[in-house]
Amino acid sequence: MSSLLQNLPEGGGYIMVLNCGSSSIKFALFEVESATHGGLKIPRQAWWSGRIENITGQQPALVLGRSPEGEPVDLSLDADPYRAALVMIRQRVLDKIGSKPVIAVAHRVVHGGHKYFEPVRVTREVLDDLSSYVPLAPLHQPFALIAIAELLALRPDLPQIACFDTGFHHTTPDIEKMLPISYQYWEKGLRRYGFHGLSYEYMSIVLAELYGQRAQGRTIVAHLGSGASLCAMKDLRSEATTMGFSALDGLMMGTRCGSIDPGAVLYLMEIEKLTLEQVGKVLYHDSGLKGVSGVSNDPRVLRAHSDTNIRCEHALALYVRRIVREIGGLTAMLGGLEMLAFTAGIGEHSAMIRRRVCRELAYLGIELDEELNQSDARVISTSRSKVKVVVEPTNEEWVAANMVLRAA
Ligand code: ADP
Repeated sequence: MSSLLQNLPEGGGYIMVLNCGSSSIKFALFEVESATHGGLKIPRQAWWSGRIENITGQQPALVLGRSPEGEPVDLSLDADPYRAALVMIRQRVLDKIGSKPVIAVAHRVVHGGHKYFEPVRVTREVLDDLSSYVPLAPLHQPFALIAIAELLALRPDLPQIACFDTGFHHTTPDIEKMLPISYQYWEKGLRRYGFHGLSYEYMSIVLAELYGQRAQGRTIVAHLGSGASLCAMKDLRSEATTMGFSALDGLMMGTRCGSIDPGAVLYLMEIEKLTLEQVGKVLYHDSGLKGVSGVSNDPRVLRAHSDTNIRCEHALALYVRRIVREIGGLTAMLGGLEMLAFTAGIGEHSAMIRRRVCRELAYLGIELDEELNQSDARVISTSRSKVKVVVEPTNEEWVAANMVLRAA
């Protein structure tokens, strides 16, 4: 039994999960009680959760529990709005939990480099290591580290566990991780890491529970959220994934480009005279669905305009085409396909995107039941379909909470 559980107070406690992004901080609290018959189970549903969004924008808002509405908050009291948001969340959580303590905090950390793939308790040394990976993910890595450092200073006794988005892809073979450039860069850590690992870990657990043997064959999970990637699994372990060295690779996303010819980047710099910073902005924030359409990163909005605005239709068509192309590539890597699972915002809710993707994949023997697809049912393929197509909400927070037990 982990030391954390041995010290669990009689009345139980909470594991807090923090997911710190560039513009939002999400949190979730999971109740932990010692089970009477050995072991310990963390409920799938968070006891309480919330987020502060638009932290550095015009109107930051705090959204609590299941409320669809956020309340505007003032983060200007601190010189750094990000730290102000952390303080605000801490205060709200302390007000809410009363005397039952938070016994550990799990952080979603984007990058574990090639040293960390299992969840780890953060010490000063670990934090230094993780900080040294900032150049590997400059737009994503720093935010979790700010929260960890603040808490470490404030509550050095409170276990903090780093849970890595790269971790799940540790099982991909070296040949999959390699970039076909000079070998010296491989030795310097320039390799394909893959991301969305907490989501894929959840999917590997839930697909096994729901579909047993079938899911343990050749499966592709499509995580289609603001960021998007695919993971090819065998035996529910990662064999290959579309995101690579950075979270820019692979599929076209809401505002990120996905794979593009590196020569196009050189052109932007050499001929268009974009600075490094400007190129970063183009690739991360002004590309994808939003960049192509010029209207929105939301497929619902694009669908509403696609009959009258050709750029909106182009954006949707390109988004689908990239998914279809990458699924083809991953299916070839797996040597066939038995299950295709959709998850995250678009994967879970956009019947239109699922239909368009699956229509193009008819050659694999995929047959969609349109009525089931429209209703976001769990299984959306017909009984004749050679590939079982399923929809399942992801639960990255619950995976992170469980990782605390693994690491503590
Ligand atoms: P993240 O956690 O990465 O921010 P999510 O998994 O919440 O992302 O997904 C966000 C994306 O899901 C947004 O692009 C949003 O437009 C899209 N989305 C949410 N609901 C729907 C829906 N009903 N139909 C289509 N897209 C949706």
